[in-house]
Amino acid sequence: MPTIKAAVCHEFGAPLVIEEVQLAAPKSGEVEVTLDAVAICHSDISFADGAWGGFLPAVYGHEAAGTVSAIGEGVTGFGEGDSVVVTLIRSCGICPSCAGGAPTLCETPYDDKNGPLSTVDGKPLSQAMACGAFAEKVVVDHRQIVKIPSDMAKDVAALVSCGVITGVGAAVNAAQLRPGQDVVVIGAGGVGLNAIQGARIAGARRIIAVDMSEEKLEIAKEFGATDGVLASLQSPWKASYKALGGKGAEVVLVTVGAIPAYEQAARYMGRGGRMIMIGMPHSGETATYEPVIMAAIGQGMIGSKMGDVVIQRDIPWMIDLYQQGRLKLDELISGRWSLEQINEAIADTKTGAARRNVILFDRA
Ligand SMILES: [Zn+2]
Ligand SMILES: [Zn+2]
Repeated sequence: MPTIKAAVCHEFGAPLVIEEVQLAAPKSGEVEVTLDAVAICHSDISFADGAWGGFLPAVYGHEAAGTVSAIGEGVTGFGEGDSVVVTLIRSCGICPSCAGGAPTLCETPYDDKNGPLSTVDGKPLSQAMACGAFAEKVVVDHRQIVKIPSDMAKDVAALVSCGVITGVGAAVNAAQLRPGQDVVVIGAGGVGLNAIQGARIAGARRIIAVDMSEEKLEIAKEFGATDGVLASLQSPWKASYKALGGKGAEVVLVTVGAIPAYEQAARYMGRGGRMIMIGMPHSGETATYEPVIMAAIGQGMIGSKMGDVVIQRDIPWMIDLYQQGRLKLDELISGRWSLEQINEAIADTKTGAARRNVILFDRA
């Protein structure tokens, strides 16, 4: 079986190890994509730290772009040489959720132990998140990929496959924002900046960015935030009410996986407000709310996975907006690294100061 270079997690919390692994040829319905770029997402780090369990050894990475290099039986609509983004949204197409238009909630489990990856001595190697994209190539289901323009830079395109669809999709699909509504976005990181530009695209009136860092609040304004609130204030929601003319927001998008952010988020909502839960805390962590308030003034909380996107519908329009200059992508990249530097890139992401760090694969 052919081997490829990958960054492998052997122990939760330990550095990833660059080594050769085996990648099987695409089976029926699958494609092989040779990667140009993969971005580092906070979900990769949570998995590698053991926050959500899963079996080891594993290859993480799920925000990728590259070129189709082999096609399995029965795949139509794609050809070798196509430029594509690779997402973790593996949808069967026929379960009630998929058939009902919610592929991010696909009910058919993916068996990552029997995926295309194995160690060089033939032992199971987890293809985490149905991608395993911290590697030179991936073999994925054809429903996980979307064609992109061949002249689009792959490092920029890679961002679309997770952070961008998650943030923009949360504002557009999950929150169903209407023009003129007020929005609070908690967290101005990789997903938060995209939630902000999603709110702008959807026609929000005021967009309040909330973050611990002044610098990130300034960056948030470049992406469409009209106001910034420092989360470290005594009662930061009061600054938000003030910016909104003395009321709460119709929509509060929580883009960080921190419990204090979730506990404060409800305070920013106005009458009839909705909180969209995007950031993913570690398993077992809980937040508390005061139900009487929510019942009395008709508030709600809604979870949103991957921006509730239908990738074949939503990725092409997002890329078109990018090409028109209406969706910022280049500005999301704060660092470019080689696969060998992946542990440094992860450490840089963990500081919280980075936007997106992208690994570029050397094809020489
Ligand atoms: Zn992600
Ligand atoms: Zn399904």
